Amino acid sequence: MKTMQAIRRCFWVTIWGLATLALADDGQPSASTGWQAGVATAKITPDEPMYMAGYAARKEQAEGTEQDLFAKALAIEDDRGHRAVLLTMDLIGVSDALRSVVADRVRTQHGIEPASLLMNASHTHCGPAYTRDDAREYFDWLSSTLVDIVGQAIADLQPARLSYSHARCGFAMNRRTPTERGYRNHPNPEGPVDHSVPVLSVSDADGQRRAVVFGYACHTTTMGFLRWLGDYAGYAQEYFEQDHPGVTAMFVAGCGADQNPYPRRELKYAQYHGRALATAVEAALEIGQTTPRHQHPLQGPLHAVMETVDLSFTDPDRPDHAYPVQVWRFGDGLTLVALGNEVVVDYSLRLKEELGHARGTAVWVAGYSNAYPGYIPSRRVLLEGGYEADSRPWDPDLEERIVAKVHELFQRACPAANLHD
Ligand SMILES: [Zn+2]
Repeated sequence: MKTMQAIRRCFWVTIWGLATLALADDGQPSASTGWQAGVATAKITPDEPMYMAGYAARKEQAEGTEQDLFAKALAIEDDRGHRAVLLTMDLIGVSDALRSVVADRVRTQHGIEPASLLMNASHTHCGPAYTRDDAREYFDWLSSTLVDIVGQAIADLQPARLSYSHARCGFAMNRRTPTERGYRNHPNPEGPVDHSVPVLSVSDADGQRRAVVFGYACHTTTMGFLRWLGDYAGYAQEYFEQDHPGVTAMFVAGCGADQNPYPRRELKYAQYHGRALATAVEAALEIGQTTPRHQHPLQGPLHAVMETVDLSFTDPDRPDHAYPVQVWRFGDGLTLVALGNEVVVDYSLRLKEELGHARGTAVWVAGYSNAYPGYIPSRRVLLEGGYEADSRPWDPDLEERIVAKVHELFQRACPAANLHD
């Protein structure tokens, strides 16, 4: 019954939202949007020799720095005073231990509830193996640094405008190739991809850009050498910041578990891919400015909800896996779905179709958020088998359970819902 009421309220708010957007479409900049935003950045390149994360076969420590690694925080507050913080990191993943330590301290020190803290890792395979026992000192320093930049971003809150637009970028290729002996980890130009580049632009009250957040669904694995590197995601951020001094560029990894960048294995390709992605961000911003249909000036409220959904295994003795799902809704303009672990591309394609096309909101689906490691195959990938399917004996209903949880949280985060009373 409550759900029906929420759906009805959502419907009327959607109608109201469309009317408001139509009024704002005359090209006049809207007055105060009610948003506040703040940003902060910290370098997280290890100073000491450390082992590298990703590529199970690689056993040596890093030999130096090709490119510094960064953590970046974007704090957003809506006109009702609800705050949320996006934390992006040039790291392999957000381990459960890192999530738990940082989320606890961000709540006690900065008053941000876990649902309103989104932690996303770029999945670079040239970052530190920070969960090892011998990396304890770095882990402690890293978690303190992340909590610190959340505080700095909150201290930096100032009136802001938010808008969403998107473009495309083509270097991600599906890496599941059918063969007579099953699916092989090998480039497959026929396989499903998600080439969308979602972009959230954050400007100050005068329209001066302060930050861009952009996504892409692809493994950050152009390189696998013994040097610290943000890979294509690091270069995309670096190039955009070079081209726009004073603007903070943040990368959010998408549902790229079954996607690899091609070509690979030479540094120049990580740079080319980074340049291509930074250029796609420019395209999204330009399209957003010149084509009102593709621009979503975002209005509040900002609603953040997060829950775990129990995923089971075909092995009945194995306990269920509590899998985190997070949904942020920026009014009716944008829905950001953040899924844990390594999620295959089917999830973003399906959720964008089901939530976006049916409900009229722009939909952005991130993977590698709030939990790591482990692959999350779709039903299709699980039944086909292969690298992304075989890590754990998932019950094939995992896709339906995850998607149902996203729909449930999407309804609960309806702009009309009063989550913060
Ligand atoms: Zn991976």
